[in-house]
Amino acid sequence: PSVRVAARRSPPSPADHALGNAVNAEIFPLVNQLVKSPFFRYVKVDLHKPCPFWKENFKCMNQDCVVQVMDEGKVRTEAPFMYQDVNLGDVKPMPAALGGSAPSGRGALGGSGPAAPGGLNFFSQCQFAKDFCVLEDESSANGEYVDLQENPERFTGYSGAPANNVWKAIYQENCFTSPVAGGHHGAPGSALDAPDDLCEEKQVFHQIISGLHASISVHICAEYLNKTTGQWQRHPKCYQYRVGNFPDRVHNVYVVYSLLLRAMAKLEPYLASQLDICTGKPKDDAAVQTALAHLAGDLAPRYALDASRLFQGPHRTALMDEVRTRFRNVSRIMDCVSCQKCRLWGKTQVTGIGTALKVVFGLSDDMIAGKVSSPTGKPLLSRFEVVALLNTLNRFAESVRDIVAFEEELARDTAQK
Ligand code: FAD
Repeated sequence: PSVRVAARRSPPSPADHALGNAVNAEIFPLVNQLVKSPFFRYVKVDLHKPCPFWKENFKCMNQDCVVQVMDEGKVRTEAPFMYQDVNLGDVKPMPAALGGSAPSGRGALGGSGPAAPGGLNFFSQCQFAKDFCVLEDESSANGEYVDLQENPERFTGYSGAPANNVWKAIYQENCFTSPVAGGHHGAPGSALDAPDDLCEEKQVFHQIISGLHASISVHICAEYLNKTTGQWQRHPKCYQYRVGNFPDRVHNVYVVYSLLLRAMAKLEPYLASQLDICTGKPKDDAAVQTALAHLAGDLAPRYALDASRLFQGPHRTALMDEVRTRFRNVSRIMDCVSCQKCRLWGKTQVTGIGTALKVVFGLSDDMIAGKVSSPTGKPLLSRFEVVALLNTLNRFAESVRDIVAFEEELARDTAQK
């Protein structure tokens, strides 16, 4: 038996932006409400891990780069369900259903632990093999509690070589060298260009990175700081120069959006019956669960990426391993982002997309429905993965909404000239 899937007739295509916009008009208000609920707004993240790839001396000193962390009192009153009294050495395990594990300082799926020499070998021992990300470990003694709603992703002024170098490193993960299914050998020219000699899976990898980049740019332009007036405002020209003038970048936002929706749709049995949302307010928690079931069961399938053709060829295992390794590296590159606010949202969104990839390509329907246990015997998804997935969906839903609004504004401007 398999989970409910989108109507078979004609799978929605991310190229059908009009359909994406129409579906998003229903999804955005719902997701935007959900991310304000206690379960989804609070995270525990370590924003002080050193960059594992190069020596990063730059620190963004702008006020807008700073992350407001929650003090102990606020965590105790607003998010007691995730509080761990690490200062007293009493690391309280989270309920297993929330992705918790024994109080060993390791996360539900083995956690990332301290940065270890030897890079990826370390993760192959400790990380669930299907993870596309090096995960934040909410049960670790390291890290700070953050209210995502209090730290909106917007223009921070982080730019120049430090920011460009991070993007370059991320796109370099797209320079596949494996001979399977059309390897890319680091063609001359910008690493940021879409390689055109790749198999479909590798093209999708590029689209995902470019879609994330474009989506972040949309957020920057939707909340841009006017340095003269000190006001936050929309900046249509910023959107035009960074995203709107490049139809492929616009399209890639829709690709990621539909990937996230495919993951939500596939997760429906898990969200409906296994995810334990227990924040101490049963009535609110029940409302969140109902909204999640509606989102995953009714709305998400209407614009969910058709992933059935991907990772099907004879080299699928090798290809999947390579894509997974590269995406994990992208998640580690987030520790090289020297603007704290950008790092917070970079980690959250890369984890959200990595979770979507894991759900869509790494987990079987039976695993998700709880019919077979996970290979590690631990919960399939940590709380942070579920929270990151929903917040990332919200960020992309906001981007899709903003793309529509920016395009209308630019069309009006042109018509008036
Ligand atoms: P960049 O956006 O840095 O792009 C560099 C080059 O990449 C461009 O010249 C272009 O050739 C290419 N490129 C651009 N977009 C795409 C695309 N979609 N697809 C393919 N290629 C592309 N800044 C903030 O103000 N707020 C934030 O929250 C924020 N978060 C960030 C998170 C991360 C993980 C990173 C790495 C950076 C973040 N930044 C943030 C910085 C921001 O993304 C830009 O780097 C910065 O605004 C400088 O922009 P830029 O014009 O130099 O071009």
